[in-house]
Amino acid sequence: MGIKRLPTELVNQIAAGEVVERPANVVKELVENALDAGAGRIDVVSEGGGRDLLSVRDDGRGITPEELPLALAPHATSKITSLEDLESVATMGFRGEALASIASVSRLTLRSRVRGSEEAWVIGSEDGGTLEPEPTSGPEGTLVEIRSLFHNTPARRKFLKTDATEHARISELLQTIAMAHPACGFSLRFGKRTVLELAATDDPRRRVVEVLGRELTDELLTVDFEGGGITIWGLAGTPSIAGPTSKRQRIYVNGRPIQDRAIQHALREAYRGLVEPGRHPTVVLFLEIDPRLVDVNVHPTKTEIRFRDSGTVHQAVRRALKATLSEHDLVPSIELGGGGGGPARDWGAGKLRAAGSGGGAPTFPAAGAGGGTPSYGSLRQGLEEPVSPVDFLAPIEPAPTGEENATPELMPRISNDIRILQVHAKYLFIEDAEGVLVIDQHALHERMMFEQLKARIESGPLEVQQFLVPDMIEVDAASIEALEQLGPLLDRLGFDAGVIGPRTIAIRGMPSFLLSRNVEAGPFLREVLAFGAEQGVVDEIEPLLAEVLDMMACKAAIKAGDRLSDHELVELIARREEIERASNCPHGRPTSLRITIPELDRKFGRSS
Ligand code: ADP
Ligand code: MG
Repeated sequence: MGIKRLPTELVNQIAAGEVVERPANVVKELVENALDAGAGRIDVVSEGGGRDLLSVRDDGRGITPEELPLALAPHATSKITSLEDLESVATMGFRGEALASIASVSRLTLRSRVRGSEEAWVIGSEDGGTLEPEPTSGPEGTLVEIRSLFHNTPARRKFLKTDATEHARISELLQTIAMAHPACGFSLRFGKRTVLELAATDDPRRRVVEVLGRELTDELLTVDFEGGGITIWGLAGTPSIAGPTSKRQRIYVNGRPIQDRAIQHALREAYRGLVEPGRHPTVVLFLEIDPRLVDVNVHPTKTEIRFRDSGTVHQAVRRALKATLSEHDLVPSIELGGGGGGPARDWGAGKLRAAGSGGGAPTFPAAGAGGGTPSYGSLRQGLEEPVSPVDFLAPIEPAPTGEENATPELMPRISNDIRILQVHAKYLFIEDAEGVLVIDQHALHERMMFEQLKARIESGPLEVQQFLVPDMIEVDAASIEALEQLGPLLDRLGFDAGVIGPRTIAIRGMPSFLLSRNVEAGPFLREVLAFGAEQGVVDEIEPLLAEVLDMMACKAAIKAGDRLSDHELVELIARREEIERASNCPHGRPTSLRITIPELDRKFGRSS
């Protein structure tokens, strides 16, 4: 077979394969064109899953009759003229092939009236041929109607899902776009049913909330960040509205919705320990970056982009979210509903109020005011009661900084009139400014230890307690391999262990801190190695650190069933204030729940 030039029609259809996979892609291209034309309102209609009709009407600047045929021609665009333009594209579309491609796989009419002009014009295209523009009537702006999508590409057509699925995709897509364009009003109809109606607004928060659902208002925290040449604005959901899918995560770079693995990773990092594994936080972020540091031309539908420096972007996103989350009180409030059972397991469904920082803080005098974080010793000495024999709150030896001998200023920090009630050796009840806090003693202590360990490990390896006689354990082959892989990590954590036989590991030392908490070396190391084996070969062991620290914290923490002395109770509660992310244990379960006074009033039939 000799080399032949492909007919234009076929070239367009091939291009269509890249740009328009399904009706939602068509809508995306048309809506982006409307936005590029300065539309203040865009109305979308779809019928038959987009197969029968897709129509997009805008009130933008319109297209002159002379340019109508050009709009449908391949590689015809009004948006870029040179390679330099490509470097800094500000408009949504720029490839100049969307309309031509769509026209090649449908019956398309393009109707437009230039702003301020008397006449509207219409041009049709069928089976690749473009008809002559004709005068018609109609409002200012542009209306694109697409019928019989993919009628001449049966393979594509077969590939489409049910009407409902295609419509869901269109709706999802329009919501994504609408969030980034609050100044434009949007509507979406499926047949006669209006499914989206968004009025134009100058308040970007309002638009995002309206799309996500007004009932979530109280659970959406504002993110506002600048650093590393990146500006980030957006809304971050409290842990309680994390969902089973990542559908409510939307990331925009310079107004474009994008998907980026580095950013997704940063997001997970920021919420690590706040949401349970397998749940996805609600996050909508708008990043503004110098367009020259972003390459948007990587992907035909432009959902993936390339950053010149993805490390900086990763860091900015993580820092922005962490700052927002740590500023807020994330303790969920319980609604004392009927129906028995209570919210014990279903805590995520409880109404969560995100008070401003300090809003729901227990009424303790602030710790370490002005003096940075006091070391553990200073807190302990600040108490009147003697140190309890089981030193359960002093697990971690001081960092080897040479400051051990400094005597930090002592501060009485516990007021005597706190009520603390420990019930069933499991839950602690305390009063706070808004009502009653119910605390899971294990979860809170685990979080506390985890944060301490994390901070402590930054300054050097944990202290090792060497054994007089090594502890031998028999393990499987995968665990032996895991020991090799996790070796450096275990060194830092204060484990001294080595392989001494095909299936035998000798533990010669363990972290003093775990020993002091009565954790047995053998079973614990076994568990860590099983975890390592499960991870398989990983490029970097650093991300595993948090997991292993968490295992340590979990093992070392007080358990449900441990009775605590008054002193221990007071101290655990008091230190809650200093811990980052105290609201959730490292697995993401809550450490505390709040019953508010208004809720109690309601239940007792008092009008408050
Ligand atoms: P691109 O958007 O990449 O330029 P398209 O094929 O989507 O390519 O559109 C071709 C041209 O048609 C655009 O550059 C623009 O000038 C014009 N156009 C398309 N849709 C509209 C619209 N809704 N309003 C005004 N002009 C439009
Ligand atoms: Mg376009």
